Amino acid sequence: MHCVSTRGRTPRTALARALVAGLAPDGGLYVPERIPTLDTVQPGATLADTARAVLAPCLDGPPLRDALPALCAQAYAFDAPLRPLARRGDHLLELFHGPTAAFKDYAARFLAGTLARLRPADAPPTTILVATSGDTGAAVASAFHRRPGFAVVILYPACRVSPRQAHGLECWGDNVRTFRVQGTFDDCQRLTKQALADDALRARLPLSSANSISLGRLLPQVAYYAHAALRFFAAHGEPLNFIVPTGNLGNACAAWLARRMGLPVGALVLACNANDALPRFFAGEDYRPRPARATLANAMDVGAPSNFERLRHWHRDDAELRAALRAFAVDDAAIADTIRQAPARHGVVPCPHTATGLHVLERLRAEGDARPWAVVATAHPAKFESIVEPLVGQALAVPPALAATLARPARGEPLAADYAALRRQLQAPA
Ligand SMILES: *Cc1c(COP(=O)(O)O)cnc(C)c1O
Repeated sequence: MHCVSTRGRTPRTALARALVAGLAPDGGLYVPERIPTLDTVQPGATLADTARAVLAPCLDGPPLRDALPALCAQAYAFDAPLRPLARRGDHLLELFHGPTAAFKDYAARFLAGTLARLRPADAPPTTILVATSGDTGAAVASAFHRRPGFAVVILYPACRVSPRQAHGLECWGDNVRTFRVQGTFDDCQRLTKQALADDALRARLPLSSANSISLGRLLPQVAYYAHAALRFFAAHGEPLNFIVPTGNLGNACAAWLARRMGLPVGALVLACNANDALPRFFAGEDYRPRPARATLANAMDVGAPSNFERLRHWHRDDAELRAALRAFAVDDAAIADTIRQAPARHGVVPCPHTATGLHVLERLRAEGDARPWAVVATAHPAKFESIVEPLVGQALAVPPALAATLARPARGEPLAADYAALRRQLQAPA
């Protein structure tokens, strides 16, 4: 597969090179030059099997083509079950069974495997720079921890993540450095973009990104939508509709790609928190990025979703884009209320992000929507126990992989939200 940039000023680039680069040189985001069509793909027995079939047309050149089976076996080693909820037609697509208990484990592991295979044996170490609103950093750290040839630098907004999230970001050491930035996620993302666009720095320090701006994070996420939708279609003869808790739009763009590839994905609805730039846009207002606001669903505290540039690129105009998706904002009161009611109403305990999706589902049902829906469960509730436990009045069991992370000692460093400060740290010996 070849890629082009959303800004149109980057030459056509082989996928392998786009994955290594992260951001396109013109400051845009890489997108497939042509989106492959998969309308004859069958559901695999396992998620890894489906992933192989779905990603084969994307990873169609050497050396990734030959590595695909091993990459998929490693990245999709844990299942993504589609769990029926209490009401007929309601489902949860559980993406939180990986080592850091959030959906980002899948793509982070795939990207780590990919970049490791694309690295020339004699190359100097690559620094993976990642801005995180809470979960990306842990997934990327876990995926690259102790991988020879890689260092990881994580930037996360101080005071905006849960205690268990902070621990999951700071507990790696070895080739991973974690900075608590005095600012918001948008600040972290801006610093990352600045570093990746700093040619003088990159000439001395091989840098790559692992944010959802990287196509290497986006493409692997298509696999679990494909797997759930293909299996649902085989069993019920109709497409599965998805509600995607959304921050930076990476997961939702993967769902959109799955549908565009011809997979049986029906309607797509974005569930946002009080950061409502997208709901306002889809309701007809001009797109206006705003400063991020802190909410209970902190991994979605994004005021300027960078993948919006991809969605716009893929549609002729805003009218066509508005017809392709819907989006709703869910405020903290509604998130808390949904978590409180979820055990009785749905038979599950959701994390605050998943709760935005469940709230939107309730809204669609109240409108009389009778289609089958899957709410994407983006994280395990035990990762947000300080929010969830008081609301549901019960202690949550910690999954074993998360418990192992929490047992490691934490060590983060403070950093001002200032590019000069980051640049100094990046050039300091590790
Ligand atoms: C990252 C994240 C989201 C938002 O996903 P995007 O791809 O940024 O839209 C939602 N929920 C959780 C738990 C996350 O970690």
